Amino acid sequence: MEYRPAAKNFLHVKIAPRGFKKGAFSHPSLVNLFEEPEALVLVFEPEDVNSILRDLLDFAPGADILETGLYPSAGPVSGYRLRYAEGLVIVSPGGEITPREGEIVLKTNFSFGSGFHPTTKLSARLLAEAFEKERPARVFDLGTGSGVLALCAAKLGAREILAADIDPRAVREARANVLTNGYEEQILVVQGSLSCARRAFFDLLLANLTIGTILTLGKEFPALLRPGGRMILSGFMLDQVAEVKNLFPQAEAEKVLAEEGWAALLCRI
Ligand code: SAM
Repeated sequence: MEYRPAAKNFLHVKIAPRGFKKGAFSHPSLVNLFEEPEALVLVFEPEDVNSILRDLLDFAPGADILETGLYPSAGPVSGYRLRYAEGLVIVSPGGEITPREGEIVLKTNFSFGSGFHPTTKLSARLLAEAFEKERPARVFDLGTGSGVLALCAAKLGAREILAADIDPRAVREARANVLTNGYEEQILVVQGSLSCARRAFFDLLLANLTIGTILTLGKEFPALLRPGGRMILSGFMLDQVAEVKNLFPQAEAEKVLAEEGWAALLCRI
């Protein structure tokens, strides 16, 4: 699949509102500004994405840009429902959208993981596939963000899930989402990274990170898995898949999915 940024019309920027006042920032292509208790979500129709991000950072140098994405529509901030696979649906309540029986309820402010990003969608789809023929009992979600993938794993039937993130705000939100969905027996959310995980223990590792982080930490991943364990890796582009595969010469690639130029890989150690 080809990456075609021109086909995307809206830039979503999730920003921690340090030094940021609603209404004080204006830009010709600003089409909407949403305010939540702890975060702002800005929606632009971008002509030049980089210049908009630069303007934003000049305007609020102390602010943290938490998540950006290009989407074909303005998209809702909350009040949406996303279906990843049969029986795997997340819902962010708001407006007329209320959770139905069996859906995963997700709320995100500061954390990455609204569920819309292609890497999240692709990872969730591969996760559903990984549970089709096997039942991975122990799952490690490295870089859990809002906890979206850990929640999906619990929904699919994983019994013990360790969800780790270095960002304390993500940890707080992931914990809240775990409680909302009643998965506190299955999912343990911790602040940290690889060193939180027991070696040779997990049936499945989820790592939707950046290419840089995967290339830095990736060599350590196989040691966390029991023999025959699997990994779902994402956060890189389709043309970087070969580089990621090269990190794991012992692994058997089972499936690659791609969307909007992003890729996700399911492989077995
Ligand atoms: N898993 C969620 C999803 O699929 O939507 C969030 C993925 S987001 C792209 C990556 C997350 O990894 C962020 O929340 C970030 O704070 C976290 N992260 C980055 N480097 C990390 C590291 N070395 N160890 C643990 N978490 C990390």
